[in-house]
Amino acid sequence: MTKTLALVAHDHKKSELIRWAIEHKAELQKHRLVATGTTGGLLQKALTLEVKRFQSGPLGGDQQIGALIAEGELDCLIFFWDPLNPAPHDPDVKALLRLCSVWNLPVACNTATADMLITSPLFFEGNYQRKMPEF
Ligand code: PGA
Repeated sequence: MTKTLALVAHDHKKSELIRWAIEHKAELQKHRLVATGTTGGLLQKALTLEVKRFQSGPLGGDQQIGALIAEGELDCLIFFWDPLNPAPHDPDVKALLRLCSVWNLPVACNTATADMLITSPLFFEGNYQRKMPEF
């Protein structure tokens, strides 16, 4: 079952995300990939896979991914945000994480959780339907 996955990494986390993505390329290539601008460019190069690129995070890319969540068009977010360095678009980062909670969207903020998500038969192979809240 093809899912749409978004991948985002802050600057100090980009190499970690790229390493993770290469490790899981076999699984990732079964799905539609979207990303913020710079992360998406790096992923495309490292994976030689098609990645739809939005604006760079600080220029609105996080909000574009948030819009996908609100439209019900995203299935999973891998978001390696940086807990040790301030981001100019911190409100957007918070807003994106907030929407994951609002819409019960699976989100991984570190490699351990991302490993578990990407290898979960529940999410990627079964007929699991996440509960969508009704508002
Ligand atoms: P970037 O954006 O992939 O364009 O660097 C990520 C972010 O800072 O949210």
